[in-house]
Amino acid sequence: MKLRTFRIGGIHPEENKITAEVATKVAALPTQAIFPLSQHIGAPAKPVVAKGDKVKVGTLLAEAGGFVSAPIYSSVSGTVLKIDNAVDATGYRKPCIIVKVEGDEWEESIDRSDKLETVAAHPELTPEEIVNRIKVAGVTGMGGAGFPTFIKLCPPPGAKAECVIINGVECEPYITSDYRLMMEHADEILVGLDLLMKAAKVDKGYIGIEDNKPEAIRLLEEKTANNPNVEIVPLAKKYPQGGEKQLVDAVIRRQVPAPPAIPVNVGAIVQNVGTAFAVYQAVMKNKPLFERYTTVTGKKVANPGNFLVRMGTPMKELIDFCGGMPEGDNKVLAGGPMMGKALTSTEVPVCKGTNSITILTDSDARRKRPQACIRCAKCVSVCPMGLEPFLLATASSMHNWEKVEQEDITSCIECGSCQFTCPAHRPLLDNIRLGKTTVMGIIRARNAKK
Ligand code: SF4
Ligand code: SF4
Repeated sequence: MKLRTFRIGGIHPEENKITAEVATKVAALPTQAIFPLSQHIGAPAKPVVAKGDKVKVGTLLAEAGGFVSAPIYSSVSGTVLKIDNAVDATGYRKPCIIVKVEGDEWEESIDRSDKLETVAAHPELTPEEIVNRIKVAGVTGMGGAGFPTFIKLCPPPGAKAECVIINGVECEPYITSDYRLMMEHADEILVGLDLLMKAAKVDKGYIGIEDNKPEAIRLLEEKTANNPNVEIVPLAKKYPQGGEKQLVDAVIRRQVPAPPAIPVNVGAIVQNVGTAFAVYQAVMKNKPLFERYTTVTGKKVANPGNFLVRMGTPMKELIDFCGGMPEGDNKVLAGGPMMGKALTSTEVPVCKGTNSITILTDSDARRKRPQACIRCAKCVSVCPMGLEPFLLATASSMHNWEKVEQEDITSCIECGSCQFTCPAHRPLLDNIRLGKTTVMGIIRARNAKK
């Protein structure tokens, strides 16, 4: 059988999934936890605690700062030390709430039992109630951008959801946290999908998984064998299949138009498996989003693995638990080697979007000297968005913002496929990111004036 995949571009980087069969461990509590107020797309959260306040696991620390925003909850019990600026994974100092950890006392409202709840057993859960619980719990997309989940469940005027697609692709090299989650919590993910389908008022759900995870495909197929509303879709391995638009194309054969169009404009609501799990916990267990699955990996890491981590834990503590920083020059990434962000400090905390800490050796991370473009068009042929990366990168480097806007730079999903494939080692993505950020700022300013 020919496996489905997306139709434009794509590459096949080395997988290096060295932690795939390492069962998840619960990470140790940190000595102090750092909670950035901006862990999502949209307005930063606004603190509701002050220095000296006592908090428990699950206590609200900061409320949503606007419609597109999300609250932040404490993952630890202890005392609020201060609200101050601290470096986060972006490399910038940003407002954070810092809590000194004392014991491990949880809010009593959180159901900590392992009993599996089902949607059928809870008829009181209306679509509106599900959306509200997801919003109150601070659930955001856990596979990348960190968009507040409740907003995706409320399509804009003119758009109508027809299905929910769960993203179990995990196409980024090295990362295995989603795979472990599927293997260890398939039942909860499936209830999470049921909740998302009910909230979106659709009766069709899909879970897209690449065929390099045959055990996860088999397990989920077994568990959904008698459910005609849910289809497990094995996909051919290709990067960046985990991109929302690529996944929609692969699973339901519809192409999402250029921004501002989003998947729901073609009928699909896409959520990551981690988000489906968080939705289950938020709605069924009254558990706010304060911990997540994270991979700590790298070829030279002594004991790489997958961890259930309290958010706010400094990444250094996880790296130390895995045997410490390998000798030599290393590059530490929040995320994987294709889309991850290089860290300036390992003191930065694990946040809602931290799916991996990847430590690359100097030889893996070292870039080759860029040479002149040989006009081979390889970057064009691999671009999953049908863009002309060499043109965008050149125009961006010349600060020709009008040109890059015309050439649709805002459609770039920053997958890095162009840079990965360029035989002349051009820093295409670096320049495209500069252009995209600038053009998006220009568009925002223009819209604000209107
Ligand atoms: S892949 Fe590199 S060398 Fe080839 S056209 Fe693109 S920028 Fe030029
Ligand atoms: S980074 Fe942007 S331009 Fe480059 S291949 Fe990905 S989508 Fe295309």
